[in-house]
Amino acid sequence: MKTPISWLIDDPAPVISVYHEHAESRFTEDGRPLAATYSNELLFEFCDIIERRGIRGKFSVVPMPGNKGDIVNGLEGIDDAELKEWLDCVKSRVMPAFSVGPEMLSHHKAVDLESGKALSMSERHWAMTQDRTTFVPYISKALSLLKEVGMHSIGVTSPWDFGIEVEDEYQHSISVSVERVSGSKKAWFFLRDVVDKPNAKPWVALEEDGRTLVSIPATTREHIWQTIDTPRTDREYVCSIADGLISEDGKSGEIIRILETGGYPIIICHWQSLMSNGLGTGLKVMDEVGRRVAENLSDRVEWMNFEEITDMVVADKAAYPKPKF
Ligand SMILES: [Zn+2]
Repeated sequence: MKTPISWLIDDPAPVISVYHEHAESRFTEDGRPLAATYSNELLFEFCDIIERRGIRGKFSVVPMPGNKGDIVNGLEGIDDAELKEWLDCVKSRVMPAFSVGPEMLSHHKAVDLESGKALSMSERHWAMTQDRTTFVPYISKALSLLKEVGMHSIGVTSPWDFGIEVEDEYQHSISVSVERVSGSKKAWFFLRDVVDKPNAKPWVALEEDGRTLVSIPATTREHIWQTIDTPRTDREYVCSIADGLISEDGKSGEIIRILETGGYPIIICHWQSLMSNGLGTGLKVMDEVGRRVAENLSDRVEWMNFEEITDMVVADKAAYPKPKF
């Protein structure tokens, strides 16, 4: 059997950049204004790349991005036709190659579920003190918003390190919420990184009342973020970033190191990294990495989305024990 490889993308939302909403500075490091929105053309370019290279993985959809409305009822300042175009494209071209899931509600301020209004604290800080009584309605709301726009999802991504302080309560709540909204007893979530450790793989996080929750970690560093903070888009620059993941000859880079230690390459990047403040430099890196993987590793690895990884883990649970942190 070939080794699974997967690409996880945090923070996508229709048109709105959630990074712009929560970033500490509204400027790039080299002093350009931070992009508040990304055109749908960049999403189409992303789709061209994943189709061309056969890349599979996980794609977040933040359902109430930046506390600016929601994907069902409309987003502040965003044309309804543009929102619909984004959602339709994700459903028809990103899925099913990529498993979609919410990255909780806003990736910004926590939401009061009764009024829909933003609370004063971030979702990350809010989550620190919650338990299943508040997590289940919150996560169920996020999954339900995706379901309402026609996106089937059996997993969630944690905005920042949402829930890490109370991970047992959080895990139970993800598993229960996924079954409640989708009917699936299998679920996945992304919270942790397992970097620079041998044998880095997903694991069975929870088994309870016939439900199974699989934790799928990122196993690489975020190489593409740096494209946000530079106007460079030249081929040499793109190749230098791709080299960090896999060299032209397929002999070095983080993907190769992970394979050599028996782990699964699960590549992390963010939507804002691929958008590169509107320049799309990160998309070029993704295309180049996809090309190099296809040329050098097609007999060793196989692209998988998060649902396929979850099925694989659930089918052979004993092979995926929880690692020691
Ligand atoms: Zn995120």
